[in-house]
Amino acid sequence: MDKRLKELIDKSHRIVFFGGAGVSTESGIPDFRSEKGLYNAQEKYGYNPETMLSHSFYMRHNKLFYKYYKENLIYPDAVPGNAHRTLAYLEEIGKLRAVVTQNIDNLHQMAGSKKVFQLHGSVDRNYCESCGRFYDLDYIMNEENCEDGVPKCSCGGRIKPDVVLYEESLDEDVISGAVKAISEADLLIIGGTSLAVYPAAGLIDYFRGDNLVLINKTHTPRDSMATLAIYDSIGKVMGLDEYTCY
Ligand SMILES: [Zn+2]
Repeated sequence: MDKRLKELIDKSHRIVFFGGAGVSTESGIPDFRSEKGLYNAQEKYGYNPETMLSHSFYMRHNKLFYKYYKENLIYPDAVPGNAHRTLAYLEEIGKLRAVVTQNIDNLHQMAGSKKVFQLHGSVDRNYCESCGRFYDLDYIMNEENCEDGVPKCSCGGRIKPDVVLYEESLDEDVISGAVKAISEADLLIIGGTSLAVYPAAGLIDYFRGDNLVLINKTHTPRDSMATLAIYDSIGKVMGLDEYTCY
């Protein structure tokens, strides 16, 4: 782990981590908003990702939505990386209060994190639009439960992923939990995000603590506010082995 970051962690007790796509790319989950993601989507499906992941597109082009969603947002074999494991460890030893993430994978929970606010929902939760019954990811990925790739409930209703699509609002309970954690934090670590996606990125305005750390490969609009800004891969900066051995 980066030595300067470790010093800040050592003197903090209410750490909150706010993460974006860069945390998951190190586990092999590509960022669909990246240049390559945008290009591939346009080439293969004829639309950009933000269009295909919008509520109106889901309603109008359900089959194509699911084709893009299953082929580009689901990575059942992905495993947690360094940052995921370090954050779970910091929670376990009582230093970290919560993880707030824009990612819809479940890698933080897989690593052992308990308090995770998933601002954009989770691919692991899916519900029937008719009767409300919940289904896991395995169910909707099993083609036997689908008609033309669209998962169906036992009642015949259509199943929707519990992820926040463009044009949809964030879950109020998730937001208020994230705001509370951020406003009470003494150290906020922001990692793997360029802070470009609103309203999620606006949540960091609630931070009133002592130290703000930014870890991202490129500059962000908030760099000047940071106690420490590190331009590197998050897995390298937040390695657990070096934390315990250092
Ligand atoms: Zn149903």
